[in-house]
Amino acid sequence: MKIVSKCPFCEKKLRFPVNKGKLLIKCPHCKNQFVFDLNIKKMLKTLISRIKSQFNIYKHKTGLFIKKLWDKNKKST
Ligand SMILES: [Zn+2]
Repeated sequence: MKIVSKCPFCEKKLRFPVNKGKLLIKCPHCKNQFVFDLNIKKMLKTLISRIKSQFNIYKHKTGLFIKKLWDKNKKST
């Protein structure tokens, strides 16, 4: 399995094989080393999807709140 990821230093695209969760990668362009953790990427993905679903609930709630206000306004005028 190969993965394409950007080097955090020079932002060039790197392709490297992934077998384990954690890899120490040396960028061939800028010679910097960095740790690539596949598990962190997975964690971030689940975290982002969780935040998104929370945001949707929030959006739904504020939508209802605004509708309530709107109805109140309509009744008073
Ligand atoms: Zn680099």
